[in-house]
Amino acid sequence: MIWIEKYLYILQCPSCGGDLELKEYPKKNILNVDNIINNGNNNEYKLLCKKCNKIYDIVEEIPILLKK
Ligand SMILES: [Zn+2]
Repeated sequence: MIWIEKYLYILQCPSCGGDLELKEYPKKNILNVDNIINNGNNNEYKLLCKKCNKIYDIVEEIPILLKK
């Protein structure tokens, strides 16, 4: 569990203002330092807007909520 999950209710989609949902996705880049540290955890979290289905990356546990 990452801290963002606790604060999801105050975050909203920058494009449409909709609610965001935390989703786990398989990591594309397997040769990543995080993967070595996490010992084979190949998933990463992203934020998905429930309203417009836009996906926002989370980098170093910081959600990148920018309009695309
Ligand atoms: Zn949205």
